Amino acid sequence: MRFRRTPSHIWCQQVVEMVSDYLEGTLPARDQRRLDHHFTICPPCSIYLSQMRETLRLAGKLVPEDLSPEMEQEFTEVYRRWREES
Ligand SMILES: [Zn+2]
Repeated sequence: MRFRRTPSHIWCQQVVEMVSDYLEGTLPARDQRRLDHHFTICPPCSIYLSQMRETLRLAGKLVPEDLSPEMEQEFTEVYRRWREES
C-alpha cells in the first residue's frame, strides 16, 4: 500500500478549507500544486474533493464560502471511516 497511513490531520483540515478556492481555481499556483499533490497521497481528501466537485456541479457554485459545520462533520466522517477501514 503506497498511501501514507497517517496523513496530517491538521494539513487535511487546511486542504478542506482551501478546497473551494482550489475548485474555483483562485488559489495561487503554488498552493494549487500542493493540494494536487496532497490529493494523490490522501484518499479521504481525494474523496472529499470529488464530493465538493459534485456539489459545485449541482449547485453551480460553492456556498457558503467558508467551511460549514455540516461540511466539516461530513469530512470528519469520511476521514474516520477511511481510518477504520485501513
Ligand atoms: Zn488529507
